[in-house]
Order: sequence, then C-alpha cells, then structure tokens
Amino acid sequence: MFCKYCGREIPAGLADCPACGFSNPSPYRRDTVLLLCLLGFVGFAGIHRFYVGRWVGGALFFLTGGFFGVGTVIDLFKIFRNTFKDADERPVLP
Ligand SMILES: [Zn+2]
Repeated sequence: MFCKYCGREIPAGLADCPACGFSNPSPYRRDTVLLLCLLGFVGFAGIHRFYVGRWVGGALFFLTGGFFGVGTVIDLFKIFRNTFKDADERPVLP
C-alpha cells in the first residue's frame, strides 16, 4: 500500500505513513463487513473478504462455503474482536 499523501510505500499493518505521518486508515467499515459475513450462513460465503480486497481468501471461502462454515464463524469472531483486517493488514473501521 502506498501513502495517499507522499506516495511512499507503507508496510503492511500500519495505518500511518512512517515517512510523513499521514494517516491512511482502512476504507472499509466493520458493520458492512459484519453484514456481508453473515451472508455466509445463507450460501454466499466470502463476500466480506471480497469487500476488503482479500480476493484469494474470498474465492476460497466462496468455493468451499466458508470452509464449510468454520471459516465464516472464525471471521465472525475476528470481526467482533476487532481483529479482522483488510487486504493491507489494516483493521477495518469501527
Ligand atoms: Zn506519507
């Protein structure tokens, strides 16, 4: 991920640019992730991972039904504990 202000690369997991200090928070919202994750229980698993840019995980979830529901439940726990991350390893917005 690159800083929107200075253009330098920001290491995965950081929301603030180490070069200029500009904040680049995740653009994704937790309540939206939660709603999309719940779709996994009605046959559309992995949509929440597509939403945050995790394409590979999303595709695997979609094809396996969220690893037969187990992955969807694990992601639900992550969302509730605020440890669900977007594709750049930033926590999604509260
Ligand atoms: Zn910067």
